[in-house]
Parts: sequence; structure tokens; C-alpha cells
Amino acid sequence: MLDAGLENNSEQPQVNQQASRQVSRMTRQRALIMAELRSVTSHPTADEIYAMVRRKLPRISLGTVYRNLDLLTDNNEILCLEYAGFQKRFDGNVNDHQHVRCMHCGRVADVTLEVPTPELPKNMYVPDFTVLCARVEFFGVCESCRQAEMAARHECA
Ligand SMILES: [Zn+2]
Ligand SMILES: [Zn+2]
Repeated sequence: MLDAGLENNSEQPQVNQQASRQVSRMTRQRALIMAELRSVTSHPTADEIYAMVRRKLPRISLGTVYRNLDLLTDNNEILCLEYAGFQKRFDGNVNDHQHVRCMHCGRVADVTLEVPTPELPKNMYVPDFTVLCARVEFFGVCESCRQAEMAARHECA
């Protein structure tokens, strides 16, 4: 089995070389996306990450960024934060932590104080579901939305 594999490799050196170049380019792109994401705490959207990565890899496509973000999420190397009605946001910090979301603009920030995750009620029953875990989320209004709101109110008065 092992011998057959080695033989196969040596039979197509050019194809393998090309493939490994492609793999290393993909790995580089993915590493850069991850590094950019880990350098911020803004929980950016895919479009924002695309803009960040493009400064260093001007020819990278939005599709490549999307694909890599999906892959990194599937591999649990980054977090994907999804809320109905808002664009997905991504988080390079995969440690257990909670988030607060602005109900106006969808902006997300980390909640730094530790909040215990509630235990699932005993004999919890939801039809058609096996409930595995719970998550705490906070909602509010971010500072810039609050100021915009106050300014708008001021204009009316
Ligand atoms: Zn806001
Ligand atoms: Zn976070």
C-alpha cells in the first residue's frame, strides 16, 4: 500500500509540484485571512475582511475570502456569528466568551466580564430536538447609534 503510494507520487512529479504550489497559495491566503481576523476585535463581516486582506493580497477574490471563512469556521479555527436580519460576522477569538450586539446597526463587541452559561433545565423537552447547550447573548445600542439617535432627537426639538 505504502509502496504503491510512493510510486504514484514519483510518476507525476510535475502535476504534484503544481498541486503543491496551489496548496501553498491556498494555505498562505487562509493564514493571512486568519491573521487579519485575529488582529482585530471588531468582529468584521466577510466584506470587511475582504477589504482588509486585499491590502496585502490585491488580487484575492471575494469568493476566495468567503470560501476560506467557511472552511475556517468548519474547522473551528474562527467563529461565525449569525443573527437573522444581519450580515454574518467573524471572530478570530475562539475562546469561550460572550457578545453584545447593537440592535440598530448589528455591530458586535466582546463582553469581557465572565457570565455563567445557564444550565439546561432538567428534563428539557423541545419537540423534534435534542438540546445540547445554551448560549448567553446581550443586546443593546452601541455608542455611535446612541449619539446619532440623540442628535436626531435634538434636530426635531
Ligand atoms: Zn450601532
Ligand atoms: Zn468575540
